Amino acid sequence: MKNKRLVMIPGPTPVTRSIQDQMGREVAAFGDPAFVQDYKELISDLKTLWRTEGEVFVVAGTGTMAMEMAIANTLKKGDNLLIVSHGFFGDRFIDLAERKGITVDVLSSEWGQIVPVAEIESKLKEKTYQAVTVSHVDTSTGVCAPVEEIGKMMEQFQDTLLIVDGVCATAGEKEYVDDMNIDVLLTGTQKAFGVPPGLAILWAGPKAMERRKSLGTIPEYYVDFDKWLPIMHDPSKYFATPAINMVWALKESVNIIKEEGTEARYARHQRTGKAMQAALEGLGFSILADKNHRASTLSNVIYPEGIDDAKFRGLLYEEGIIVAGGLAAYAGKMFRLGHMGNVDMHDLVATLATIERALYRSGQPVELGKGVGIFMKEMLQ
Ligand SMILES: *Cc1c(COP(=O)(O)O)cnc(C)c1O
Repeated sequence: MKNKRLVMIPGPTPVTRSIQDQMGREVAAFGDPAFVQDYKELISDLKTLWRTEGEVFVVAGTGTMAMEMAIANTLKKGDNLLIVSHGFFGDRFIDLAERKGITVDVLSSEWGQIVPVAEIESKLKEKTYQAVTVSHVDTSTGVCAPVEEIGKMMEQFQDTLLIVDGVCATAGEKEYVDDMNIDVLLTGTQKAFGVPPGLAILWAGPKAMERRKSLGTIPEYYVDFDKWLPIMHDPSKYFATPAINMVWALKESVNIIKEEGTEARYARHQRTGKAMQAALEGLGFSILADKNHRASTLSNVIYPEGIDDAKFRGLLYEEGIIVAGGLAAYAGKMFRLGHMGNVDMHDLVATLATIERALYRSGQPVELGKGVGIFMKEMLQ
């Protein structure tokens, strides 16, 4: 008999029944007062939970569109942008910004390491930048950037906005927009919110909204804050058709988050991340990210000697566990495992047990139950 499929890639992540049910509802008119109310409550909850006095935008599109939206509304041609890159997604901002005629400087870390905060600070002292981008968790490396520390350091650079790509972090790693001095935070629904792909979420603090105002008319149309702001304040107005069922699905995800509590949710992710990483190391894998800067939302898992990546992931797939391959130099050497959002104990235990079986079937010496045992012990602490 075939096993159920568990999507354990770093996004999309497993979607709970109650969220699926919202996707399956009969569509409503976007002007339906009940839908308008739902949309309004969603925006208000997102503002409250991520603590900003600024604005929230929920717009159909992916995380990449949210990256574009952040840049388009805060920078203009000729501005200087400092990109702090911890991997593939950090680098994505380079092409994105250069196409808009923005002057880009890049501080890159070796994969698995971070750019030290002091290095960002001295770069900011050298030259005036209108903004800095940083990926909170770079999905290609599993590195978690010290966003809170970066935000604190940037208090001395009041004219420089901090743009945080939270696509693999938001709703899993701790983020409070105004408290952490973040000016723009962006994400997509398919990662730690545990909703199918389709919506971009963007928080813009007061300073970012001021910056948007100072830019006047921008070249972009669909992602312009000015086009969407009236709708975010009053969703009965029309600009472009909202993704009705996605809005409901995200609202259900936010209800789950409210019930769990943000602090409890962040703590759960930390505990789960540590326990999964300890279990994987116990099985002979190593984790790409430096121990001091590991994400709790996913693990980038390097194979021990003698494992064929395609074969190993094929064995997992056969048994119903889907993981992602490594990117760039780590293609074939590593797999990427998501453990964020609404994944539960059953999913995690089943995943580890299946990884053990795949090791066994790959001819590796493995003590069956060892990874699961380490995980359970860590979770009981
Ligand atoms: C997944 C991801 C993106 C891209 O999001 P899409 O929804 O695939 O466009 C951007 N940044 C990070 C850190 C990601 O993990």
